Amino acid sequence: MSKKQFKAESKRLLDLMINSIYTNKEIFLRELISNASDAIDKVYFRSLTDNNLKEINQSDLQIKIIRDKENHTLTIEDNGIGMTETELENNLGTIAKSGTLNFKESMSKDTKEKAEGEEEQNPTLIGQFGVGFYSCFMVSDKVTVISKSVDSDKAYKWESEGADGYTISETEKEGRGTKIILHIKEDTEDEKYSKYLEEYTIENLIKKYSDYIRYPIKMDCEKKVPKPKAEEDKDKPTEYDTVMEEKTLNSMVPLWKKAKKDVTDEEYKNFYMQKFYDFEEPLKWIHTKVEGQYSYSTLLYIPAHVPYDYFGKEFKKGLQLYSNGVLVMEHCEDLLPDYFGFVKGLVDSEDLSLNISREILQQDKQLRVIAKNIESKLRSELEAMLENDRLAYEKLFKAFGTPLKIGAYDGFGINKDKLKDLLMFHSSYENEIENPEDKENKVKSDYTTIKEYVSRMKEDQKEIYYASSETIDKIKMMPQVETVLDKGYEVLFLDESVDEFVLQIMENYDGKKFVNVSANNIDLDSDEEKEALKKVNEENKDMFKFMKEAIGEETIKDVRFTHRLKNHPVCLVSEGVVSVEMQKVLNAMPDQGNQSIKAETVLEINEKHPIAEKLKTLYKEDKKDEVKKYSKILLDSAKLIEGLPIDNPTEFSNAICELMTK
Ligand code: ADP
Repeated sequence: MSKKQFKAESKRLLDLMINSIYTNKEIFLRELISNASDAIDKVYFRSLTDNNLKEINQSDLQIKIIRDKENHTLTIEDNGIGMTETELENNLGTIAKSGTLNFKESMSKDTKEKAEGEEEQNPTLIGQFGVGFYSCFMVSDKVTVISKSVDSDKAYKWESEGADGYTISETEKEGRGTKIILHIKEDTEDEKYSKYLEEYTIENLIKKYSDYIRYPIKMDCEKKVPKPKAEEDKDKPTEYDTVMEEKTLNSMVPLWKKAKKDVTDEEYKNFYMQKFYDFEEPLKWIHTKVEGQYSYSTLLYIPAHVPYDYFGKEFKKGLQLYSNGVLVMEHCEDLLPDYFGFVKGLVDSEDLSLNISREILQQDKQLRVIAKNIESKLRSELEAMLENDRLAYEKLFKAFGTPLKIGAYDGFGINKDKLKDLLMFHSSYENEIENPEDKENKVKSDYTTIKEYVSRMKEDQKEIYYASSETIDKIKMMPQVETVLDKGYEVLFLDESVDEFVLQIMENYDGKKFVNVSANNIDLDSDEEKEALKKVNEENKDMFKFMKEAIGEETIKDVRFTHRLKNHPVCLVSEGVVSVEMQKVLNAMPDQGNQSIKAETVLEINEKHPIAEKLKTLYKEDKKDEVKKYSKILLDSAKLIEGLPIDNPTEFSNAICELMTK
């Protein structure tokens, strides 16, 4: 029998796993039990519709653990669906397509780090992760899998001693299901592997990780029975015989069906990491039980980081749907709105039919009610988190702020009022917040909410100001920002494409309008200042008309003097609903239709800058050619400041050099 090689990625993973110093080897048992439970789920689910399997009785479904100290083996046996020869090959010869992929992603980084001879960055990574079947090699030097599928009359044996390959051969097995025989490693100085053959260890591991598994996990356990005593010995101490008795190790109550007080934080976290293949603890969990018209439990988790595939097409949002403990659907999308698509978790309802189909589900009134409750529960929990655990909320927002913002914008802002207080933006205000781990010292916050901005508004401030560009640094350098800050007003810094669209759709907060500092409708001047500016603009209107024609660009609607600039000579301000920044975003989108969208802008010249005097003089002296040249240079400079392309860079450069050498 020839030995087959593992597929490349499995080999790398195995090497890593076997040769690394992971403290958490014990999770192998949890992984095998969870596979066994899945396999039983599958067969039970099939038996509901498959006549050939109709004699399957729910009460016979079970997982067995057999300790054999003599042969140094630990066996995990299930009467689940089993694997055919091909399935053995596909499932155990390579890493399955499922959640394990996720793991591969994070592992490949680790591999590189190791290859460069660096220290292990995160040694607990694997230990906390749903690593699947392969984890058994952490404690075994040989693994034998004997399996008989419900789809085959023959049983097969898969055997491997680790990274160097595996064999598959035909064998005998009574009844369907899978038997995994672990040849436990010999003890070393660092690790006492033989403890995995002890009743005490196994019992504790099952309690710790697999208590909620819905099928009984049975094992022969020692039981002391008093030896019968003769009448005359009745004062002597009782002696005991040790007999073996089969015991069920798990309580079989799913975690989410337990009372909150009976579940430890550790259990909640472990459950999440195992079930949703995350190597990081969740930021938060929400466990609810609802009784009433419909009775159901929900257990929701907020991940601490963005899943690697979150923005990809493959990502499936949704919650797991259970009907009385039995998984009905892996990703029930209808239970979550898109903007909470990052939430993981499950819903278990007693009233759902088991073999319910997708179409029926969509129309299910009960499901709609549950979805609505989940949405509002999540919202209120997040609001509370923002209030009471700001640091954690900022972490959440850093990871999932974008979907929340898109949620406020989507559908013409249909959900904007629901979400407005969950949104945060960067700001010119240096916010400080409480750090729960160090109550003495506050930490710098990265964000402000709009509510907080409004609470800080000055008495004479009527509007909420914002500025937008690709980066915070660029925003800080914008001439228009400087002026508003100089007046003592706060400016929201929008550095994400969606930001400005969100504020536009929201229009105002508590009646306070959102105003772009680069928009022409910003109202900062006093009445006298406005009057004075109006006057000079009126006086020079012929010159501006000439300049506008000299520029000859359709989107430049006007040229005029301004007071909005402090030191800078020029800027572009937008006049319509589309700002210069939005134009950039829209033009960057793949949709061709957007290419033609242009912001309508006005070229504004700082009236207090020497350039204003110079222009006036040139125009008065009738040096039209000069004025024309200057106009173009000023426009191009304004465009460059805004990060817009200029039409003719060569001409611009030549014009500058000409001036320099004059
Ligand atoms: P995962 O559980 O993440 O898919 P594993 O490496 O644990 O990855 O298992 C790979 C696949 O092998 C499973 O998806 C399943 O199809 C199959 N498998 C593992 N254990 C069993 C079992 N006890 N019975 C039937 N199939 C199993």
